[in-house]
Amino acid sequence: MKFKDYNISSLIKEQLDEMGFTKPTDIQFKAIKHILDGEDVMAVAQTGTGKTAAFAIPVIDLLERKNRKGYKGIRCVVMVPTRELAKQISLVFQQIGKRTSVKTFGLFGGVEQEQQIRTINNGLDVLVTTPGRMFDLISQGFLDLSKLDFLVLDEADLMLDLGFNKDIQDILKHIPQRRQTLFFTATISKKIKNLAYSVVRNAIRIQISPKNPVAKNIDHAVAFIEMDDKRFFLENILKEYEEKNFIVFARTKVRVERTVAAMERVGVKTEALHGGIDQKERFAILDRFRSGENRVLVTTDVAARGIDIPTMDYVINYDLPEDPENYVHRCGRTGRGNKRGQALSFCSTGERELLANIEEYTGEEIEQYEIHEDDYKEILNDIDDPTYNWKRLLDQVNKEDGKEEEW
Ligand code: ADP
Ligand code: MG
Repeated sequence: MKFKDYNISSLIKEQLDEMGFTKPTDIQFKAIKHILDGEDVMAVAQTGTGKTAAFAIPVIDLLERKNRKGYKGIRCVVMVPTRELAKQISLVFQQIGKRTSVKTFGLFGGVEQEQQIRTINNGLDVLVTTPGRMFDLISQGFLDLSKLDFLVLDEADLMLDLGFNKDIQDILKHIPQRRQTLFFTATISKKIKNLAYSVVRNAIRIQISPKNPVAKNIDHAVAFIEMDDKRFFLENILKEYEEKNFIVFARTKVRVERTVAAMERVGVKTEALHGGIDQKERFAILDRFRSGENRVLVTTDVAARGIDIPTMDYVINYDLPEDPENYVHRCGRTGRGNKRGQALSFCSTGERELLANIEEYTGEEIEQYEIHEDDYKEILNDIDDPTYNWKRLLDQVNKEDGKEEEW
């Protein structure tokens, strides 16, 4: 079935066509019809499978059809865990709804609230928001959600991880009991199920490939590289694939900064993205990456979760994640929609156990990328800048590693 065969507004179909969306993804195929029927939905599908459009298309269609005369208030709230996601998902709504009369606004903290209040007062249908700023505005009396038709919880697993459980319970006090609730998550656990069942009613449950959490259009490989040597291999890869886009995951923000500095010294331009960076700059960094102005993003786990950058070619796990689930989230930054992607992990001797945990979690052995001893040595010796005293630098890194702060 294609989008053109759907019983949705032609204004949406024309727009989907322009966006290059011809066929629904699995999750879209399964979810859209139930949402259009007015059912609550609880959906589990790996990252990169197109969950945003799975709720955005039917919600926009229903809002467009049921244009409430005279009422200018908010009819749908999409709650998301991070500001980056609020921005990203509001843009998807605006894009899909471009030809319709449905108005969407992305609300989040870290910016002045006056302009936001003006936008809300001018009337809008869909509010995509992080919990923090939403509750600020509710408590100040600037936000009325009492006539809501839809509540969408997106990236619900990350919401739980970031401690937003109580916020989700709290929003229920401000919205009507009679509503349609849509719950979307990339991973499932008992905790997430409990959360889901506290908000949805008689929900249709949809689960895509529950057994293998890793999206199927990603190739995985691991290379055994010692901690101290990782930067040279990264340099080597980034110089070898000059046309490609990379997202590089390091364990902590300190290691992110160091990696960026190390690449700068050898003439490879990268940018750091982590929670220690000011919000405005974080948006700018993502924009530069999306536009192609910068092609290598070095980041931590949390900063990149849920983020959709369709042009991502490679994920590099510069450090392996402590939590095997994060391996899946990281790799999911590539191979999105119907594109293919590649994930390469650097594994040091000290990280072998983490690798084993990841393989157990995903149920699949990761293919080993063999590096011959001679090649390995050559990469280490092949340093462009002879003044670059990496020995001293590495000693310093090792000393500082003990007192790093987490993300
Ligand atoms: P998820 O929320 O499941 O992680 P997203 O909603 O961010 O995934 O979508 C991942 C990518 O797939 C996006 O770049 C999106 O534009 C693309 N995409 C979604 N649906 C389709 C479709 N039907 N056809 C082509 N590309 C799609
Ligand atoms: Mg998503």
